[in-house]
Amino acid sequence: MKRIAVLTSGGDAPGMNAAIRAVVRTAGYHHMEVYGSERGYAGLIEGELKMLSRRSVSDTIQRGGTILKTARSEEFTTYEGRKKAAENLSDRGIEGLVVIGGDGSFRGANDLWKEFGVKVIGVPGTIDNDLGYTDRTIGFDTAVNTALSSINNLRDTMSSHDRVVIVQVMGRRSGEIALHAGLAGGAEVILVPEKPVDFDEVASILNRGKAVGKTSGIVVLAEGACPLEEAMKELKERTGLSFRSTVLGYIQRGGSPTMADRVLASRLGVKAVELLKENKGGLAVGVKGGAVVTLPIGEALAIPAFFDEELYEQAKILSL
Ligand code: ADP
Repeated sequence: MKRIAVLTSGGDAPGMNAAIRAVVRTAGYHHMEVYGSERGYAGLIEGELKMLSRRSVSDTIQRGGTILKTARSEEFTTYEGRKKAAENLSDRGIEGLVVIGGDGSFRGANDLWKEFGVKVIGVPGTIDNDLGYTDRTIGFDTAVNTALSSINNLRDTMSSHDRVVIVQVMGRRSGEIALHAGLAGGAEVILVPEKPVDFDEVASILNRGKAVGKTSGIVVLAEGACPLEEAMKELKERTGLSFRSTVLGYIQRGGSPTMADRVLASRLGVKAVELLKENKGGLAVGVKGGAVVTLPIGEALAIPAFFDEELYEQAKILSL
């Protein structure tokens, strides 16, 4: 394979640039040309492809966001849209495509592979850590650390004022960010979509904390667990505590990627290009038990998102 393309799609995640950089530099190392599609699948449909040199990715490894921009494309969810994208690639003699994105982007990539034989490699880029075939997705570690740093700040002010704060974190249908940020931040309670929300139990934990002399508290709420307003209302009714709430929101999506995300993105970007060099396609790359793994995208998508039950139970023990 002599010519490939790369794009970022769906929600942005810190470390996407490190992955693009790894793709571009590895391709250069193997004497392959690389084109970048701007704004994900939208750019591919419009045929907006520009050649990326080794130097075009200089000074990007430490930057959040994505230099290729990202977007959601309604047109790409149609057969006609994907046909245009596949034609734009073949017209330019581009034989392989690296897609950096989440599960939606992977579904699109799989369609492109199944319908038009485009040799696609999926690289998991999402802060949600909701792709079950890989232990980690690019961006998760940074997002958790960003949430954690906010929780640390909130802890200071909550203990000064004897208050309980409910911090809403991102993650869509996954409680992974909430679980990890909550455990590392010493939260009293962690509410996740994977577990039923029991306000009586939460209230009793907070009231018990008060009884043993805790004057402040942190409740970490995953956005997919329940609405923030509902949690505030239900807990106010059940406790005599003073509550505040904070929505961390998009703050978690940006920022300079951590070492873990940069290394993960680099390893997976290198592997993606090596697979294309071997003329392989329709594959997802990830990490399991520390090792880089490769499996068909369809199979990868069929594996349910992992939630660490053991860690969740441990977090409960530690918060008492
Ligand atoms: P993420 O990749 O972060 O999960 P989205 O779910 O928004 O983000 O998906 C990104 C893009 O991937 C969508 O805008 C769409 O173009 C494409 N996509 C999503 N789901 C599908 C699907 N089932 N079939 C084809 N393309 C899809």
